[in-house]
Amino acid sequence: MKPDIKRDPEELMFQSLRAIAWDEFVGQGKIKQALRVALSAAKKRKEAVEHILLYGPPGLGKTTLAQLIAKDLNVNLRATSGPALERAGDLASLLTNLNDGDIFFIDEIHRLSKVVEETLYPAMEDYHLDIVVGQGPSARTLKLDLPKFTLIGATTRIGLIASPLRDRFGIVHRLTFYEPEELMMVLKNAAKKLKLKLNEAVARNLARRARGTPRIALKLLKRCRDLAQLKGETGISQKVLDESLQLLEVDEVGLDANDRRLLLALIDKHEGGPVGLETLAATISEDKETIEEVIEPYLLQIGFLKRLPRGRVATALAFNHFGRKVQKN
Ligand code: ADP
Repeated sequence: MKPDIKRDPEELMFQSLRAIAWDEFVGQGKIKQALRVALSAAKKRKEAVEHILLYGPPGLGKTTLAQLIAKDLNVNLRATSGPALERAGDLASLLTNLNDGDIFFIDEIHRLSKVVEETLYPAMEDYHLDIVVGQGPSARTLKLDLPKFTLIGATTRIGLIASPLRDRFGIVHRLTFYEPEELMMVLKNAAKKLKLKLNEAVARNLARRARGTPRIALKLLKRCRDLAQLKGETGISQKVLDESLQLLEVDEVGLDANDRRLLLALIDKHEGGPVGLETLAATISEDKETIEEVIEPYLLQIGFLKRLPRGRVATALAFNHFGRKVQKN
């Protein structure tokens, strides 16, 4: 089994800022409400909560929600990820160690191997595993009973989840990008925890540059904090914010260097498109997955990019943003 995910220092700092109570989890009101109803009902019935699938771009709070659910139910959360589960045996050893009601969290669930995915079906459906022992004619299938756990799957790519897997989730929610006001709340709460002064105007400015994503908002805040500390300041001034964003090459609408590389390749090298994903990936030497999962969702959301059957197209908004003359696509 590969080592667990989320060990790098940046991720640890996010974990330290992870919302710990429902009230601290900002936004996504409908999802929170629906989840809390489902949790209360399951608690009342003294049953495990139905399996939950959370999807949406990275950094929007899927892992945090899974942690909140475990905390609400007062159960353990065992976290792993699709690529970490290499063999069916890896899955078996994790599942057999759970207790009734526990949460089993699989991040990047779209990256499960076929064999692990198929082993998961009976586990999700009626809490058992079919384990094949031995080989050839003497091979036998052992049925192993499991505790009544709840699987929470998280994915940035719902389209890559096969329908037999998708259908086994009773609760499915899509997380959407956050409004600047919501990100301001996230930033203010984090600043409080970090004992950092952050005034309204600076918080608003930061929120606007965070691509609708709490993780990015917190990352920007951390970079600002680094610079403020270097300058011996206890808060984040507008000047520190401007300098940090300049260092990070984040522009006034929150586009970073990768966003610009993609859009400018489309505009300057392909007359705005349409360009197939493959060609675009080759043009900017980026892998297709990163383009689809990380870069494109926000550009689509702010209307700088369109996905047509013939390929990607930069919109008039994008041309204008870079001061280029709009071309007919
Ligand atoms: P995902 O699993 O969707 O990639 P995470 O749950 O890891 O996202 O969230 C990334 C960071 O953003 C964490 O530090 C988390 O605390 C913070 N965060 C995400 N959503 C919210 C929210 N709605 N309110 C407050 N903080 C949030």
